[in-house]
Amino acid sequence: MDRILNYIDGAFVPPLAGQYLDNHEPRTGAVYGQLPDSTAADVDRAVAAAKAAFPAWQALKRQERAQYLYKIADAIEKKLDLFAKAESRDQGKPIHLARSMDIPRAVENFRFFAGAILHQQEKAFQTSPEVLNYTRREPMGVAGLISPWNLPLYLLTWKIAPALAAGNTAVAKPSELTPATAFLLAEVLDEVGLPKGVCNLVFGLGEKAGDALVAHPDVPLISFTGGTETAAVIGRRAAPLYKKISFELGGKNPALIFADCDLDAALATTVRSSFLNQGEICLCTSRLFVEESLLPKFTELFVERVRQLKVGDPESQDSFMGPLVSAEHQDKVAGFVQRARTQGHRVLCGGERVTPQKSLEKGYYFAPTVISTDDASPEIMQQEVFGPVVTITPFRDYADAVCKANSTRYGLAATIWTRNLERAHHAAADIKAGQIWVNTWMLRDLRVPFGGMKDSGIGREGGDYSLEFYTEEKNICLQLGRNQL
Ligand code: NDP
Repeated sequence: MDRILNYIDGAFVPPLAGQYLDNHEPRTGAVYGQLPDSTAADVDRAVAAAKAAFPAWQALKRQERAQYLYKIADAIEKKLDLFAKAESRDQGKPIHLARSMDIPRAVENFRFFAGAILHQQEKAFQTSPEVLNYTRREPMGVAGLISPWNLPLYLLTWKIAPALAAGNTAVAKPSELTPATAFLLAEVLDEVGLPKGVCNLVFGLGEKAGDALVAHPDVPLISFTGGTETAAVIGRRAAPLYKKISFELGGKNPALIFADCDLDAALATTVRSSFLNQGEICLCTSRLFVEESLLPKFTELFVERVRQLKVGDPESQDSFMGPLVSAEHQDKVAGFVQRARTQGHRVLCGGERVTPQKSLEKGYYFAPTVISTDDASPEIMQQEVFGPVVTITPFRDYADAVCKANSTRYGLAATIWTRNLERAHHAAADIKAGQIWVNTWMLRDLRVPFGGMKDSGIGREGGDYSLEFYTEEKNICLQLGRNQL
């Protein structure tokens, strides 16, 4: 059985209390490894190492820090297959998706921020010929990084890369459900000779290790991606300590499908946006709103395509969906569908656990599910399921569509399907979401601001926004007399 260790101060170390957690393989439900059940003492050790490493790391030239990041990217890329296999086994996503999406994006995160730090601009303001104001951006110290299980390496490196590029050191706590690729990353950091203590990984539970990181007095900033309720707990812990916080949280993302859309494109992309990675992407579509006149045709074609999606062994090249991440999550998703049924909403397809083959009968598979409902208020339309479940609901006109799209506490992303540019332009402004896609989904330039509105988050990351988050800006005002000319 694989047993992974914490990576602290450049060494692989067991948790101080000697306790471990089991790691389950979603594909079969079997325990295949163990990870440290770290405590506050392990976090203390990691923070102390990161604090000690900070002065030398921040003093390096930007080019030197960038070189480390490029080396990390190259090393992950060389081991792409190993990483993809580990990610698929840990999380349940089809291996081809890990290979084509998650791991390349992790590589890209390091390359992108290695380049970005070299091009970061600072500002200067010439107030008068004698007065010059200029700003300096300074790293903050030890960055506390907490990431979820759905895109384990992709989201972890989206934090580590800018934090290190900007000159911080880091202590990261990956999700307890998906530690494998973070552990491989630690091996890469070791291999490329990243100075010890610059990046530390502590594995374990959110309420224990995560909480200790959030509450640690020597960690001035927390970047958290995860659930909206968890963020409220973290916020309550971090606010009295005046920490800088970034929250990237849940969503209940609408797709507005107008009758004049390119139907084939809307269908193909909406099937993907609803069910890619088993619907376990914060940006996945979960509420489809379709113009009344198109609803019968759209629903028929959509359901037909969803029925054809193959739920299967994540190791197989032709599986579109693998298992959900855990038995607990499978129960949660099934519970949402059951309650929707009880409340009278129609399940058009899916709605149940499935067993792709006998040898996988204990895995956490769930069929892609489409639920028809006429109003936007039931639980299934309001709460984040974070699984392969979408609702489909008619709208009458533009105003009705926008009102329904905005009728949740979330505001992460939205997709608009129409050939009418004026309508797309106004809907993009009227929908409260941090990311709007028009006639596409998931396309993103890493330089743009990423984050949610309403209860979907606080702050923006991406390009300069991340470099800003991971630094503090200081203004320096110089009075320059002419006395010594
Ligand atoms: P959770 O909020 O349960 O956990 C996220 C991370 O926080 C995990 O590492 C978890 O550890 C840790 N954690 C839990 N409790 C605490 C605590 N009290 N203090 C500190 N850390 C804690 O989210 P999930 O892992 O279930 O991820 C799914 C959620 O993430 C969904 O809501 C999804 O929408 C959101 N998400 C948002 C994204 C965005 O960019 N907006 C992107 C991807 C996902 P452990 O797992 O060990 O409990």
